[in-house]
Amino acid sequence: MNVPDTQRNGKKNNVRFRVTIVGCGIGGLTLAATISKFTIEQDGIIEVDMYESKSEVSVIGAGVGIWKRSWQVLQDLGFEEELVKREVKVPVDGESRGPIFRKSDQPTPGYDFHDHVMPYGPLGLHRPTLLEILQSKLSANCTIHTSKALVSYTVHAGDNDSGITLHFADNTTAEADILIGADGVYSATRQTMFSGLAEETGNKEYAQYARAEYSGTLAYRGPVPTEKLKEKYPQHIVLNRPKAWCGKSQHVITHPLGPYIGIILYMYRPDLSSPHLARFQNQSVIPSSRDEVLALCEGWEPELREVLECIDPDPSKVSCWVIHRVKPLPFCVLGNVGLIGDAAHAMLPHQGVGGGQAIEDAHLLGRLLTHPKAAVSSPSSPSTLPIILKLYETFRLPAAQKAAEASYDNGLMYEFNYPGLVFGDSQADPNSRGPTPDELKVLGERIGESFTWLKEGDVEGDWQKNGGRVGEDVIVAIFKRPAYDRKKRKKREGLNHRTGLYI
Ligand SMILES: Cc1cc2nc3c(=O)[nH]c(=O)nc-3n(C[C@H](O)[C@H](O)[C@H](O)COP(=O)(O)OP(=O)(O)OC[C@H]3O[C@@H](n4cnc5c(N)ncnc54)[C@H](O)[C@@H]3O)c2cc1C
Repeated sequence: MNVPDTQRNGKKNNVRFRVTIVGCGIGGLTLAATISKFTIEQDGIIEVDMYESKSEVSVIGAGVGIWKRSWQVLQDLGFEEELVKREVKVPVDGESRGPIFRKSDQPTPGYDFHDHVMPYGPLGLHRPTLLEILQSKLSANCTIHTSKALVSYTVHAGDNDSGITLHFADNTTAEADILIGADGVYSATRQTMFSGLAEETGNKEYAQYARAEYSGTLAYRGPVPTEKLKEKYPQHIVLNRPKAWCGKSQHVITHPLGPYIGIILYMYRPDLSSPHLARFQNQSVIPSSRDEVLALCEGWEPELREVLECIDPDPSKVSCWVIHRVKPLPFCVLGNVGLIGDAAHAMLPHQGVGGGQAIEDAHLLGRLLTHPKAAVSSPSSPSTLPIILKLYETFRLPAAQKAAEASYDNGLMYEFNYPGLVFGDSQADPNSRGPTPDELKVLGERIGESFTWLKEGDVEGDWQKNGGRVGEDVIVAIFKRPAYDRKKRKKREGLNHRTGLYI
């Protein structure tokens, strides 16, 4: 194994096993913090090695929505105290006011059609603050290695167990007992898992899960300085409440954030030959400009255009993002390798729950891994880690995939493309009519209902349910699931060196 960047202090001899996490984003750090909190050291230490491709643990600004269950996880990790110290508001249980939805794709003034009530007062937590607090919760048994971009991994059989070798872009390697890919939407861990499986089994179907796919959506972001808007329009409706400005196949979210108004224009262009897409080449973010955003809202209502005209004219402040997602995976665990967060289920952001799903994955997996029965193999018993990982997958993957589906549906609703409530583009086609106020009322009700799941459940209950299953004879139940088509797999003896699957 290569010498880590930060050498641990002294050799510990009661190490139960090592968890290797690739990616120090929301999911990876929550997992390490959960392991740090729940490891009972008298049972032995769980060492955690984290590998991050960037030269430091960092994230681009902006907020991440924290709903009920993800807040419970963060509370468990001691966030309430930390946020109070930083004078950041903590979320309150119960309803709160959300954005006002408005029909805007018309040259005359638009109108409100849905005053959204959130089923739970979510916290818009500043991403750098979230990562900073998570990092402060890591125990001395966690080591972060920066500037380590995973390229691939290989699995090899050891004397008692299979081990994993990680291969990094700087040509170094590291060894792991268990590998968790928390490396985001473009996950190298997922790519290795599924492209390796396609190659080794001869089933090309697996290859479709290796790479992220275009979601059909582009997002433009650019701030509006609040003072600048106030000078021109002191009573403007964006100053007090978040707004969703809806129209055919695109919508704009405006959010008052103190010194500036956050603006995101989402545009649905599923056509892969769209000229908008051609500009990206291999990048996921490219520079844009105020004029480009304004041009996309040509013919939209005056009140929206007034705001967009105040976007910071500095082109470096305006960007366009291509949003990729992960096709619903048939599984996210293979042997001793698992995926969490965006690596397993990157989704569209229309419910603001991708970060929360990463937090929930990390919490359940972290608690399962710190269960006293989680162990690598010994002369008397086999490793329980693959079963622990499968338990995590069985519970979390369907839940996160449901959230991804809901996020996709919400995009269709905001952009008048929802099945049964599809309305034409009256601007592009004079024969096509837009929605009537009555139809928009129904749409508004659907939007309201689509968020109700966010107030349900509790993570402690999820943990109790799953933690209680560790040690039971769950193997049969889990492996009976039709996770992948075993019949089509090429028959071979032994351990597959890329995927770790015995075939
Ligand atoms: C426009 C937009 C708006 C959004 N708004 C919201 C919102 O309001 N609320 C919400 O909950 N979610 C939102 N999301 C989604 C949210 O950002 C993600 O779901 C969340 O960041 C996922 O966390 P993660 O830890 O899985 O991945 P990430 O946050 O992407 O972290 C992955 C980490 O892995 C590192 N990494 C990547 N590749 C490698 C490699 N090969 N080797 C080593 N390290 C690697 C990266 O540098 C990064 O640090 C939004 C997303 C978008 C695009």
